[in-house]
Formats: sequence, structure tokens, C-alpha cells
Amino acid sequence: MKIGFIGLGIMGSPMAKNLVNAGHELVVYDHNKEAVADLVSWGAVQGESGKDVALQSEVVITMVPNSPHVRAAVLGENGVSEGAKPGTVLIDMSSIDPTESKVIGAELEKLGIDMLDAPVSGGEPKAIDGTLSVMVGGKKELFDKFYDMLMLMAGSVVYVGELGSGNVAKLANQIVVAVNIAAVSEALTFAKKAGTDPELVYQAIRGGLAGSTVMDAKAPMMLGRNFNPGFRIELHIKDLNNALNAAHAISSPVPLTGQLMEIMQGLKADGFEKEDHSSIVKYYEKIANTMVKSGTVMEEK
Ligand code: NAD
Repeated sequence: MKIGFIGLGIMGSPMAKNLVNAGHELVVYDHNKEAVADLVSWGAVQGESGKDVALQSEVVITMVPNSPHVRAAVLGENGVSEGAKPGTVLIDMSSIDPTESKVIGAELEKLGIDMLDAPVSGGEPKAIDGTLSVMVGGKKELFDKFYDMLMLMAGSVVYVGELGSGNVAKLANQIVVAVNIAAVSEALTFAKKAGTDPELVYQAIRGGLAGSTVMDAKAPMMLGRNFNPGFRIELHIKDLNNALNAAHAISSPVPLTGQLMEIMQGLKADGFEKEDHSSIVKYYEKIANTMVKSGTVMEEK
């Protein structure tokens, strides 16, 4: 299948490479010329613009940061909509506001272009391994048609519902992850202040009901003082902003999400926006005047 791919960043680049590895012909475009050159050396063809990519493709995938970038790549000047023939399909795999997915989809429908929203969870390691979790919204027959292609980048591809539903699932995922990291941070900060070794508290509770994938991924980073991303605070702020907008538009209160947004704004003000979201623990450390790392309070004195 001739596939267009726009957005070759941390996630898009390895995802596109997995499609090339599987034998697909790829036409790629990114504002970043080095990212395009890297994919061309991998076997892809260079596109000159979104329009040029669409002219040469049956299906176009976008993997860019946020809603305005998807709009620009798809509906902007020299964008996908200028080159796509009726019957072309856009699969937007970026994490964006689901309301925007619907608006962009409606614009494309006027031109005879179908759209799926198919954001991912899993981060760079799973993008490289081709084991992402993909959550898909749009027409079911389109989902069925592109399931095998999406599975080349994924460990699971799940149909959620109409267009926008993929991003609803993704935002739900981001709410759960943010609140979980904050809960782990709050608990380990308390354990430290109470004079226990937070590493031993983590070991004691991880196998019980409190244990979680988030705890096992993030507590070791907090305890080991490793805040290299992973998933940057600034991207999580983008997702929570989309979650707040989408939830407020339908009168679905999200009080914990609001609280996490303010915690992350505090971290941004302290200059931590490029760090992994496990640095949420630094917010707690600041207000509690302690540091969550292995060792008891007594040992540190
Ligand atoms: P990134 O910033 O590394 O890459 C984005 C790429 O898009 C850049 O190369 C940029 O030049 C390109 N771009 C932006 N606008 C463009 C346009 N109009 N035309 C062409 N290219 C354009 O971002 P990323 O980490 O790869 O994330 C992409 C999406 O995946 C985001 O929505 C993010 O929230 C989501 N996501 C990221 C992770 C992660 O761990 N990084 C995990 C899951 C989901």
C-alpha cells in the first residue's frame, strides 16, 4: 500500500520505519529536513509538502504535536486536503482534542476524504518495538480496512467508536496516568517525611492493591532521581489542556485533572517542563521540604 506519513518526530520516525520494514512504500514529509533525510535513507520517498504526500498516497498518516499542527498539515496551505483525491483516507495518530478531530473530519468529508483518529499510548520504546496501544475512532469499516496496517506499529489496536472516540480514550488514559503519578508522589513524600525509607515502602506496597503499571514505571525514576523523558511535562500539559476543554464542553467536571494541571503549571514555572512527568514528585518535595530518594531521614543527617 502507498502510505503518506507526515510528522517524523520522536514517535513518528520509528512508526514510519516499522511501516517501511514491513514492505510498504512510504512518502514522507516533515518541516524538519534531517528527519526526512533519515527516513529516505531507510527507504522512504521524500515528499515536498503535505499536498505532495497526498497526491502520491492512498492513505495519509499524521503524527504531529497538537490540533493546530494537524489543521496546518491537513487543511493549511499546501496541506493534505489540496492533494488528496476523493476516497483518500487520513489517519491522524496525534493526540489532540476530540472536538477538533470531529471538526477536521467534517471539513474533509466535504472533499470526499474519510478520517480516523488513532492516537497511541506507549512512548518512544514501544514506537520503536512496534508495540504501541492504538485507540481508534471513525467508521468501523475503515477501522477494519486499516487494522492490519496499524498492527504493524502496535501491540493492540482497539476500535472505540465514532470519529473523536480515539482521542477521548487517549485523554482518559492521560487523566489516569497524571493522577496516578501524583498519588505515587504524594504517598512516597509522606513516607519519607514519616521517617521511613521510600524505596522499602514502594517494595512493600507494589504487590498489593496500590500497585500499578504507573507505580512500577515511575517510582523507580523518582527514587533513582532520573527525570529524563519519557513523556515530557509540556506534552502532558497539552493533553490535560485538551482534556479540560473537551470535558468542559460537555459539562463533565474533572476536578482531579484541574488540580494536576495546576501542579504541572508549577513545575513549568520552576523550569521542569522538558523533564519526564515523574518529576511531579518535585512539586510535592518542594511543598513538603524533603526529597524522595532511597534511605531514611536518620541516615541522611
Ligand atoms: P515531536 O515533537 O517529537 O514530533 C513532532 C513532529 O511533527 C516534528 O518533527 C515536527 O517538525 C513535525 N511537524 C509539526 N507540525 C508539522 C506540520 N504542519 N507539517 C509537517 N510536520 C510537522 O512529537 P512526538 O513526541 O513524536 O509526539 C507526536 C504526537 O504523539 C503528540 O501528539 C504526542 O502527544 C503523542 N504521543 C507522544 C508520546 C511520547 O512519549 N513522545 C507518547 C504517546 C503519544
